[in-house]
Amino acid sequence: MRRVSIFGATGSIGQNTIDLIARDPDAYDVVALSGGRNIVQLARDAQDLRAEVAVTAYPEMLPDLREALAGSGIEAAAGQGALLEAAQRPADWVMSAIVGSAGLAPGLKALEQGATLALANKESLVAAGPLLMDTARKHQARVLPVDSEHSAIFQGLVGEEIDAVERIIITASGGAFRDWPLEKLATATLAEASSHPNWDMGQRITIDSASMFNKALEVIEVKEYFGVRPDQIEVLVHPESMVHALVGFNDGALMAHLGAPDMRHAIGYALHWPERKPLPVERLDLAKIGQLNFRAPDPARYPALRLAYEVMEAGGLSGAAFNAAKERALDYFIAGRIGFLDMARIVEDVLDAMSKEAGLIGAAVTLDNVARIDQMAREQADRLIGARV
Ligand code: NAD
Ligand code: MG
Repeated sequence: MRRVSIFGATGSIGQNTIDLIARDPDAYDVVALSGGRNIVQLARDAQDLRAEVAVTAYPEMLPDLREALAGSGIEAAAGQGALLEAAQRPADWVMSAIVGSAGLAPGLKALEQGATLALANKESLVAAGPLLMDTARKHQARVLPVDSEHSAIFQGLVGEEIDAVERIIITASGGAFRDWPLEKLATATLAEASSHPNWDMGQRITIDSASMFNKALEVIEVKEYFGVRPDQIEVLVHPESMVHALVGFNDGALMAHLGAPDMRHAIGYALHWPERKPLPVERLDLAKIGQLNFRAPDPARYPALRLAYEVMEAGGLSGAAFNAAKERALDYFIAGRIGFLDMARIVEDVLDAMSKEAGLIGAAVTLDNVARIDQMAREQADRLIGARV
């Protein structure tokens, strides 16, 4: 039996992970599940999977969770301390599927106890890639990618030398607004930004797909996972979302990974790695699909992509500042306080302001420094937005 924990179990990735695990209950011993305010879901999953402990991120939800789990023998816990404690419980495989930089600390704890970390929480890598990877090395732990593009690259690299890689291309669907006229983007509403043409995901990543901030995070993720240079990473708009990524080698060969847009593929690959096992995902019928389309992303439409390259060049803690400013700008867009195009402007202004302060971005990538920069970037975004609206 493999001991597994799922952080962010009630979310889109978490539920897809549970779907796979629940199909083979005898193979897994579930240690911890975590969620937020959806106590009904969290308690039901904890009972179905006979978890050891269920943790809600929010202390005020603890009485509800206790009541929902009464008599089940499953521990109920709440808050940041409880999340970290749960992440320290021995497990072979831990899914990191909390959304946002809140996923970083539990992920690090899981690595410190030597677990294999299936990382959906891309914000961790963007904010603290070197810290996460060093922690894994130090504890003989592993980080496995659970993002469709990065899982695709990872699969494309099996049996290959990274030195033979010339370039890595990740695809982007273009999100909700890929065919909108540029002038109309400024007036895009929350509801319009919250629906994705191909993927069914949490609200935040769906909006990030429309703005291309998701792809910006993923470009940085490529650098952190695979150690390639920024100029080796390319983005290609591919509206069908069937080719997830391509690896280009020094002999001119391009290895593409294709699959239906279903996150259970990337989750399942990480769950069964290093083996490949059958997964309940749709099989592509290419004859029926007939054609696949590709085009270069329009820089005027997607300023977030340019920012990603600037962040990679700056290095250090600029990823932490970038991610936190993006999270805050997204909070404001969701709250209806700023427009769709304001998000990129605010992130750029935060990065500009913070890069002017000597020694700030260049400090070591430690958990404390990441937390400090994260907080500063959010406060800077608050000030800029306060001055604007
Ligand atoms: P979601 O919003 O559906 O779920 C988020 C989960 O995190 C929930 O369980 C929620 O309760 C929990 N959570 C939220 N805020 C928290 C906090 N402050 N502290 C602790 N827990 C908190 O999100 P999702 O779409 O499942 O995405 C999860 C992660 O996976 C994100 O980092 C996202 O970028 C990444 N990802 C998602 C997809 C996808 O298809 N959904 C694809 C690739 C990568
Ligand atoms: Mg992705």
